[in-house]
Amino acid sequence: MNDNNIYPIFSRMQIRTDKEQLLGQHSIMIWLTGLSGSGKSTIAIALERELFRLGFLCRILDGDNIRSGINNNLGFTESDRIENIRRIAEVGKLFIDSGIITISAFISPNNNIRNLARSIIGENDFVEVFVSTPLEVCEDRDVKGLYKKARLGEIKNFTGISAPFEKPENPDVEIDTTSLTVEESVNKIMEVILPLISTKKNQEWGF
Ligand code: ADP
Repeated sequence: MNDNNIYPIFSRMQIRTDKEQLLGQHSIMIWLTGLSGSGKSTIAIALERELFRLGFLCRILDGDNIRSGINNNLGFTESDRIENIRRIAEVGKLFIDSGIITISAFISPNNNIRNLARSIIGENDFVEVFVSTPLEVCEDRDVKGLYKKARLGEIKNFTGISAPFEKPENPDVEIDTTSLTVEESVNKIMEVILPLISTKKNQEWGF
């Protein structure tokens, strides 16, 4: 008898490795973390395009998209930020279990939150990319006008201004977009992920 009346059927479903084989790739999570305006979405989009060109199937999970859909009932308090990331990681896991390379672009401002995502996804499938563009540059870009509003006190709990951003301790890749172009940033990530996502089939094709 099961206490909560929930009976998962995972063990009877077609397994991940079958799906990875069908797609000719290994799935992983590429987790981009960094301040608003650091370049996460721009890099995610360019990375997906490059992977698609090489024949890899990806899915991007992006902050504003998720916050306008599945997480539209969450704000930016500490507990809502945790729930935001927990749901994103669970959704990411569904894609990874379907063999799909998943790129997530969320501020994810502290080690606790990133470690929560890592523990849901699984250490072996999690590649952490720190987009380390400094606050001054992000604020100067102010792509969405949010820094200006945060400075005026119109947005509360804004990361970098009125809420902290804790740097990742040991990211797999670090990218400062003040010194790297979008293309160079993508190449730097590709160097780390290609060996992880490639199968024999990709290697025979020469990439
Ligand atoms: P985030 O998703 O981290 O909030 P965005 O990708 O929305 O950031 O915004 C980053 C801004 O910085 C975009 O306007 C982008 O064109 C600009 N930018 C300039 N150089 C780069 C670079 N090398 N990599 C990524 N973005 C860059």
